[in-house]
Amino acid sequence: MTFLFEPQAVTAVPIVGRSESFPVRRVYCVGRNYAAHAREMGKDPDKEPPFFFMKPADAVVPGGGGIHYPPGTKNYQHEIEMVVALGKGGHRIPVDAALDHVFGYGIGLDMTRRDLQFAARDLGRPWDFGKSFDESAPVAPLHPVATHGHFSKGAITLHVNGDERQKGDLADLIWSVPETISFLSDYYQLMAGDLIFTGTPAGVAAVVPGDRLVGAVAGLGTLDVTILEAR
Ligand code: MN
Repeated sequence: MTFLFEPQAVTAVPIVGRSESFPVRRVYCVGRNYAAHAREMGKDPDKEPPFFFMKPADAVVPGGGGIHYPPGTKNYQHEIEMVVALGKGGHRIPVDAALDHVFGYGIGLDMTRRDLQFAARDLGRPWDFGKSFDESAPVAPLHPVATHGHFSKGAITLHVNGDERQKGDLADLIWSVPETISFLSDYYQLMAGDLIFTGTPAGVAAVVPGDRLVGAVAGLGTLDVTILEAR
């Protein structure tokens, strides 16, 4: 087959200790998966079924670095999250088999145009303008399960210009990684290459050009992002 024009290259995330990189197929994101963050969003964190939104694969910024202040917002916020990378797909995956589908773990930022997200939320409209835009998903190099194991507890933090803004612990996830994978697989045919952003702890706030964001998850290194002037 020949194409009308050269297709866009697949977005791929570096892997710690490997020469290959991880080709991204889809990016699924869990909403409100830490109780304290649910409360700061004005919602009751009592356990209800998880809910999801998606970002386009090419919103991923592999390894982090500079990202541009996006158009259309006056309230551009950070959400630090652990990211799960699937190495094997499946449908209707049982909770006790879900971790077999994980290739590795990383750190991501679910960058959010909060004003547009809330406007959509309050009108019962989709979140896409608030969540699914260019450069909205920086992801640090992935740590393979084969060499680093699984991650179900440990500190998750975000510092902005050296000040701690967000802090939580993976043990406080309302929906665990296996539960999240299993639930999502009831609604989608999951595939190798899928990333799942697992939700953010409390402390989300706005950033401006020039700000430097450093996210960390215990055992997963750091994600370093700088906000550039709007294009
Ligand atoms: Mn999020």
